[in-house]
Amino acid sequence: MKEAMHYRKEPVGKTRCLLCPHRCLLSNGKIGRCLARQNKDGVLYTLIYGEVSSYSMDPMEKKPLYHFYPGKMIFSIGSWGCNFKCTFCQNWNISQQKAAVESFEKDDIIGIALQNNSIGIAYTYNEPFVWYEFVLDTAKAAKEKGLKNVLVTNGFVSDEPLKEILPYIDAMNIDIKAGNESFYREICDGQLAQVMKTIKAVHEAGVHLELTHLVIPTLTDKPDEIREISSWIAEMSPDIPFHLTRYFPQYKMNIASTPLLSMKEAYEIAKEKLNYVYLGNMSDEHGGNITACPQCSAELIVREPGSASIRGLKAGKCGKCGKEIPGIF
Ligand code: SF4
Ligand code: SF4
Repeated sequence: MKEAMHYRKEPVGKTRCLLCPHRCLLSNGKIGRCLARQNKDGVLYTLIYGEVSSYSMDPMEKKPLYHFYPGKMIFSIGSWGCNFKCTFCQNWNISQQKAAVESFEKDDIIGIALQNNSIGIAYTYNEPFVWYEFVLDTAKAAKEKGLKNVLVTNGFVSDEPLKEILPYIDAMNIDIKAGNESFYREICDGQLAQVMKTIKAVHEAGVHLELTHLVIPTLTDKPDEIREISSWIAEMSPDIPFHLTRYFPQYKMNIASTPLLSMKEAYEIAKEKLNYVYLGNMSDEHGGNITACPQCSAELIVREPGSASIRGLKAGKCGKCGKEIPGIF
């Protein structure tokens, strides 16, 4: 077991974890809310260093990242544990309980990525920030080998650890689960304010950023709230790609799946403020997965499940009108 980073020792053998804003205070033997960190005799340990529950070569589009090496494959790995408890979690079997794992060294992961001609490594499936020590060590070593590092995250991490890892991260997809604190508190056991802080810090650090919002009927589909979230993103930059994802019943949530009409409505609202809005978890015939030039409407990237074809994009610019398209292509 490896000693955790970002914690402090407290009186009578307790430890205070400082990795995320839950700041768990743990007495001897106790495990944090994320399930991934434990106090043993006054020392905090990560329980999941090198423990891999899931791995796969995935299309970049699956993360989802649409403006970051479109069409490329990325070696994607996850462990177990999460600092949220979303009642709609589709990966609850690895986020809310201990999962079967294989143990890897960071060099094993890098070796597999290189052998498979992966553009890099994506840390995903469960919450990568609760896997902090292994992600940081692997990301540092991967960068030296020319691999890109991608985090797919809920964004619920404290300022210091975020600052420490960002120089090694090339792209992130962060969830905005809702535009209000009560949803975060009651449905996710999280807090929105810190997530917004993380998003701003990532944007300001110049790391490639895309955002995702799951549209859940009656909970996160309200036009005013989608307008508010979109306006907030647009204040940072209207060029940040925004993914609206269709919800299906999962885990403890049994609300019926999102009507296609609600997805279309959410799309139109977000498009009022943002240049690149995409629909996810929907069949292609419903659109919303094409990158079009916001200036002349030329089709630049067309996506199908598992692939993306770059059509009208030349050296990062629209081939028709020359508008610069944000992203790394
Ligand atoms: S990372 Fe885990 S142990 Fe640390 S504060 Fe967050 S939930 Fe608690
Ligand atoms: S943050 Fe993601 S992994 Fe964690 S419980 Fe929520 S949906 Fe699941």
